[in-house]
Amino acid sequence: MMEEDYVFKIVVIGDSAVGKTQLLGRFTRGDFFLDSKSTIGIEFQTRTVDIGRRRVKAQIWDTAGQERYRAVTGAYYRGALGAMLVYDVTSRRTFDHAARWVDDLRAHADKSIVVMLVGNKADLAVAGARAVAADEAAAFAEEQGLFFSEASALSGENVERAFLRLLEEIHANVC
Ligand code: GDP
Repeated sequence: MMEEDYVFKIVVIGDSAVGKTQLLGRFTRGDFFLDSKSTIGIEFQTRTVDIGRRRVKAQIWDTAGQERYRAVTGAYYRGALGAMLVYDVTSRRTFDHAARWVDDLRAHADKSIVVMLVGNKADLAVAGARAVAADEAAAFAEEQGLFFSEASALSGENVERAFLRLLEEIHANVC
């Protein structure tokens, strides 16, 4: 029996096509689907991890495409203890929109929500397609009180670390 001590709701937000679904799949199942939209309609996925001596079930919600219509509602944020705000390091526009997503969080989510800003597709930045410097994103995160990491859902780099950091910070808040 996998009895958990806590269930932490985490929402994944950010512009369309930044890799939200793939990051979630990488963390909960350890894979990357080339046909990523196969998961549309699935509201959340879970993974149970041990943090300290506690068993924590991360219940991670995917927007399932709602962000395309700016239709992410209060219901999506309700009860969320953490948020992963994702942009694409090769797309300036998706980073510029991060401020809007922070406004959305401030408007709809709990005041104490823990937020991790993730610059995804870091594997592409290596190939010279970078549009957002890590320093700039780190400065924005600091100014807004967010944690920050670059990651790649494709290679898996930093994905585990970013989610675990978020869960640890939530755990530190609730305990
Ligand atoms: P979402 O709309 O934010 O959920 O984005 P998806 O997870 O559907 O990903 C959008 C596209 O980016 C898909 O074609 C993915 O295969 C691709 N993608 C997602 N993550 C990565 C990554 O880390 N590296 C690269 N190179 N492509 C990625």
